[in-house]
Amino acid sequence: MGKYGLVLHGGAGAILRHEMTPDLDAAFRQKLSEAVNAGHTIIEQGGAALDAVTASIIILEDSPLFNAGKGAVLNAAGVCELDASIMNGRTLEAGAVAGLHHIKNPIHLARDVMEKSAHIMMAGSGAEKFAEGLGYDLMPESYFQTDFRRAQLLRAKELENVGAGATTSTGRVTFSTIDDNALIAQFKWGTVGCVALDQAGNLAAGTSTGGMTNKKFGRIGDSPIIGAGTYADNATCAVSATGWGEFFIRASVARDIAARMEYQGKGVVEAAAAALAKVREMGGSGGVIAIDAQGQISMEFNSPGMYRACQLAGQTARVALYGDETRR
Ligand code: ASP
Repeated sequence: MGKYGLVLHGGAGAILRHEMTPDLDAAFRQKLSEAVNAGHTIIEQGGAALDAVTASIIILEDSPLFNAGKGAVLNAAGVCELDASIMNGRTLEAGAVAGLHHIKNPIHLARDVMEKSAHIMMAGSGAEKFAEGLGYDLMPESYFQTDFRRAQLLRAKELENVGAGATTSTGRVTFSTIDDNALIAQFKWGTVGCVALDQAGNLAAGTSTGGMTNKKFGRIGDSPIIGAGTYADNATCAVSATGWGEFFIRASVARDIAARMEYQGKGVVEAAAAALAKVREMGGSGGVIAIDAQGQISMEFNSPGMYRACQLAGQTARVALYGDETRR
């Protein structure tokens, strides 16, 4: 049997068994299974890694459970601002979009930027104008918003006020005026991402997110940044990251994993662990999914949990949420 496979994540963060209801646990597992099956079926039938990644991510963007597309977190102005990126490991072509307000499936537009524009990254109203030109329907902002995310924003704003004027534990002023770690620990990030290896040996990676709750409008995280939140190169691996984006940008996490494989000859598991250890040292947290050209995978994280799923050639799908479940 040829080597192929697909891995996805639905975000990392404070995902704890004792805080989860049985219904919510089941709902997450069901949606992750649906997304992993959709992508895996495409590559099982000989389709392209890029198509599998796109299909899986669209399912997660359309689900209000995850912080991407419908159900994305709200920024400080109370609206969703969406970022996404995609990369083709065969050609090293990439596409990214940031600061979208009206695009139902940002991953789809990122792919169109890659395939139908002369650019890599487009943002805000310009990106949406490009989409309109391609015949996209622009969605009302209300489509993306949910009561759960409104409540989360209120809580984040309350916490922000509690510590106004305090110095952050990392000694710098960020989007929050209280201790960063205290605020971050309250939230499960829920960004979505997918990496795949198809039967032709091609790798692809994609990531889609609403960013972080209460982010200042205009803030862009790692998810749409090629080399930070997303990277794919047939010579090494495909990576999608989730976590505290500011750290993932500074550590160039996705490219760092590929570079450790390329320059140091490390395996994907070791390379992913080393890149995340660096994020941890810097004070950040989160996780990554990665698959290499031989179908070796990593689902590594340094937060309490990460929504994740994988399916490899000839195997059944594995779905996991918590820290004590599978990472391979
Ligand atoms: N990395 C994303 C960001 O910082 C958030 C996440 O992964 O949930 O925008």
